[in-house]
Amino acid sequence: MDAVRAGALLLAAAVLAAGCAPDPAGAPPAPPAPSATTPATSAAASGAPTSGPAPSSGPAPSGPGAVPERDPQPRPDLDDPASLAVVVNKQRPLDPQDWAPPALEDVEGHLLRPEAAAAARALLAAARAEGVPIRIVSGYRSYAEQSDTYAGWVAQKGRAGADTVSARPGHSEHQTGLAVDVGDGSGCELRECFDGTATAAWVAEHGPEHGFVVRYPWGEHGTTGYWYEPWHLRYLGPERAQELVRSGAATLEEFSGLPPAPDYGPPAPR
Ligand SMILES: [Zn+2]
Repeated sequence: MDAVRAGALLLAAAVLAAGCAPDPAGAPPAPPAPSATTPATSAAASGAPTSGPAPSSGPAPSGPGAVPERDPQPRPDLDDPASLAVVVNKQRPLDPQDWAPPALEDVEGHLLRPEAAAAARALLAAARAEGVPIRIVSGYRSYAEQSDTYAGWVAQKGRAGADTVSARPGHSEHQTGLAVDVGDGSGCELRECFDGTATAAWVAEHGPEHGFVVRYPWGEHGTTGYWYEPWHLRYLGPERAQELVRSGAATLEEFSGLPPAPDYGPPAPR
């Protein structure tokens, strides 16, 4: 091999490693439909005869020193809807999309996962003990309920309009059973004027002690995909919620090392 050709190969390898080139794994799918979690290596490992090289362009990294294409650190807790650490947003639907919690408990007329329900009761009691009015406005919503809600908005405002006010089914954090909307009974429920109430201030300050964070903070819609919702609290557990606050991360996405999810565009790599 001459020096010029070797140099060109090295350059191509460097570009791939830097992530500047399109991910070859994301390019035209190879004949056997790849599942979300099965890398191409499984076919090779199983000894199945493969017909021809997989990627068609460029020198595919395939030697022993090749950089693995996949994230070397699996983060199943962020993907598993049963985990308290799961992150659901416009680019990370629940998997499966119609997932439902195995258990739910009633808290003042609304359903939450048992861990979140116990914490919500404690939070309500602590706020009221300090004279802060608080009530639950919304808790768990099933895939079917979210489908109906979203379809109603689409009928009224079209799909683009619906997306500004309602999560698509399978993409709502309320479907995890870990999200709760709170209000103060004043008529500002789920409205901008909830901001500035004693209740909004109290839950922002004391929520983390009980395991809840304000999931859609002011000015972070470019990351979370939602405008400021001081009423929407997400249960993470006291340890993780307080860790998020201490970390200085503005959002759950940032804290979890995930890319911004401003809209329903093509899924971000996991
Ligand atoms: Zn909400």
